[in-house]
Amino acid sequence: MVRIWNSIDAHLKNGSIVIRFRGKTISLDSTAPLQTDIAFISHAHYDHLPRRVSSTVLASNETVELARIRGLPIKSHINKAESLKLIDSGHILGSRALLVDDDLLYTGDFAGRPRAFLSKLISVKCKTLIVEATYGKPGIVFPSVAKVMGAAMDSISRAYELGKGIVLEGYTLGKAQLLNYMFQTWRPIFVHPKIEAVNQIYRKFGVAIPMPDKVVDDIGGLIHKGPFVFIAPMNIHLRSDVPMIKFTGWAHNASRSSLPLSDHADFQELITYIKKANPERILTIYGFDRGLAEELRRQGFYAKSVSDLQTDILDYT
Ligand SMILES: [Zn+2]
Repeated sequence: MVRIWNSIDAHLKNGSIVIRFRGKTISLDSTAPLQTDIAFISHAHYDHLPRRVSSTVLASNETVELARIRGLPIKSHINKAESLKLIDSGHILGSRALLVDDDLLYTGDFAGRPRAFLSKLISVKCKTLIVEATYGKPGIVFPSVAKVMGAAMDSISRAYELGKGIVLEGYTLGKAQLLNYMFQTWRPIFVHPKIEAVNQIYRKFGVAIPMPDKVVDDIGGLIHKGPFVFIAPMNIHLRSDVPMIKFTGWAHNASRSSLPLSDHADFQELITYIKKANPERILTIYGFDRGLAEELRRQGFYAKSVSDLQTDILDYT
């Protein structure tokens, strides 16, 4: 167990952050099955879900439902508690940041800009900030959503002019729904079954994801029947040779076959967000957490990273 700060009751246990608030322990997106009073789950991506959970889960209703279809049974769930505020982080359906006592903010994964039906994390002033650093590397700056959509529209219309289909690839939960929503005017639209299973939850919570013309796991039999859009999981293996575009923040150097549409804040958005929060102490977590903490210290903040803390041998005792 590693104590994170002397002034705040927070520590790292098996690589996960656990805070103590009003006598209760709260784990933050612990992937290890820790015994705490409350397990906060910011959203339902696998890298934020434990394999099993016996604590009371604090999460949005959307996250609980999405976690269940991803194989995590949740027995006990609350979506609010006194002085524990859940704030929409704009990352995917149901994603929330956690504000403890108007004083400590854990962002979870968060978006730095709105995209279609998804918003961005609002700015919050806090003394302690635990902030994600997925793209916390200087130089990672995403182009505007309009620019990415424009480039995608160009490729789709080119395919349609040639009478061909086109595959739009994105993560099964989150990105695929955004693609399905953004490019819904192109028809017919075919959707992979794994994505359609998630779409159903989105519709249940009021997001107008269109009904697909067909649910298919391969487009082999469809490629000679005229143009189409196929919404598919990332890195799907298809037997047919059809143009495709991958949508991911990692494509920040855009090419014809990949476009940088991200559900995270880019480096500049991270810095802007942190400056507005103006915290006394910062802990960076995920991705380039070391680099971001270093840059923040250079800018005069008191910052450390989870990776630095984990090098402390005590964490593994
Ligand atoms: Zn995520």
